[in-house]
Amino acid sequence: MKKSNSKTNLKKRWKLGVSEWNTENFHIDKDGDFVVSENNHRYNLHDLIKKYGSPLEVVFPTIIRKRVRSLIELFNAYITIAGYKGKFSYHYPMKVNQNKEFVLPIVGAGANLEVGSYNELWLIKRLWESEKVNPKLRVLCNGPKAEQYIGLIAEMRKKGLDVIPIVEDEGELEQLSAYKWDIGIRVDLDVKADTRWDKKNDRFGLLESRILDLPKTKNFKILHYHIGSQINSGKSILTTAARAFKIYAELSRKHPHLDTIDMGGGLGIPYEKKKFYTAKPVIRQIIKLFKKLAEKEKVKEPNIIVEWGRYVAAPAQVTLYKVIAEKPIPHASAKAWYVIDGSFMNDLLDTWAIHQKWHVVPVNNAGAALTPVWLAGSSCDSDDKYTAGNYVLAPKIKAHDHQFLAFLDSGAYQDALASHHCLLSSPAKILAEDGQITIARKRETPDMVGKLFGWTNN
Ligand SMILES: *Cc1c(COP(=O)(O)O)cnc(C)c1O
Repeated sequence: MKKSNSKTNLKKRWKLGVSEWNTENFHIDKDGDFVVSENNHRYNLHDLIKKYGSPLEVVFPTIIRKRVRSLIELFNAYITIAGYKGKFSYHYPMKVNQNKEFVLPIVGAGANLEVGSYNELWLIKRLWESEKVNPKLRVLCNGPKAEQYIGLIAEMRKKGLDVIPIVEDEGELEQLSAYKWDIGIRVDLDVKADTRWDKKNDRFGLLESRILDLPKTKNFKILHYHIGSQINSGKSILTTAARAFKIYAELSRKHPHLDTIDMGGGLGIPYEKKKFYTAKPVIRQIIKLFKKLAEKEKVKEPNIIVEWGRYVAAPAQVTLYKVIAEKPIPHASAKAWYVIDGSFMNDLLDTWAIHQKWHVVPVNNAGAALTPVWLAGSSCDSDDKYTAGNYVLAPKIKAHDHQFLAFLDSGAYQDALASHHCLLSSPAKILAEDGQITIARKRETPDMVGKLFGWTNN
């Protein structure tokens, strides 16, 4: 018993303290509580729940900054080592997490931005007008561009913001050729990638044959592609990049201004804490590959943009729940249902939408004996559950004891997609930074939730 309670063993048991899995800041203390370190500051998640209640999302801006900086540093380091002549810039895709508490530290750490809608660009306009951003900030605009969106791009360009629209289709190409702005064009690469979003008939961008056929376009600066999110192998990122480079090489002979490849998103997260590729070797190989191909094709080494958002945002947030009921399951791989005080369908809805697996770690009692469970959400929907395929291992709960569970890597996509099934409240959200706690989203009252559905008092 004593032995299994040692801190090292518990760290191993819960796969914490491993940088390849983005758990290097996570530990278990001697009482079996989940503790997060921020250099010399410590946050005990069990204490935070006691103070702020559950369900609770905890965001770590320090982790966000560190991930942006390390991406930029890695690219720049390998560019220097290889003597590569193109420049690197990182553009954070806002749709991954548009919350201010994410976007501000990301910009602060040196990121440029990528937006996908009029409303996202509108928020950047607000930021710009606050005069708190570097006038050199560059913003790429993806997504279908209705008139209003193009109008805002024009307005922001006039105000001096470096906004570059990325052309999605023929109509936009025609519309945007009326302006002298730099533009990017998105290509729908004819290549298979190792991700669940790899569709045979992608609806985004121009077909390879069509883009190669375009007449000389003076303001065509960026060749953009985005093959999907959460690409499951480093190799797949590289084969896609090689395909894009071939197109770039051909295009750059015709379009004099073209000098940049935007690789879009795709770098994956080791959600399941098992063998997975890491950023460093992939970045090294991208630079090596582009250098080699530029030499072979006798073209200029292109500037490189990546829009890896999930990679930056996911590990910076954890979502915490309380187990509020335990129900036996007679004939199954799991022994019991643990019902949590939040909802998978609402707060971690990729569980339900795309069968996302998360790493689950106890917030307290991490050294207790374990039992296989299925987890159920508090909505009255039978799809509101989490089984991780088979079962989840969680501490056995003693009578009158309370148990809290943490879901790691919840910082990407879950918030903007979140909903209010059964009118459950969203989790409260706190930021843990510099040893202090700030409330980013208060716990929703019934009145606040009701208002979202038109239940105002008059
Ligand atoms: C969604 C999206 C991204 C983000 O991709 P992730 O790998 O999930 O970070 C980047 N670029 C574009 C154009 C996107 O649509």
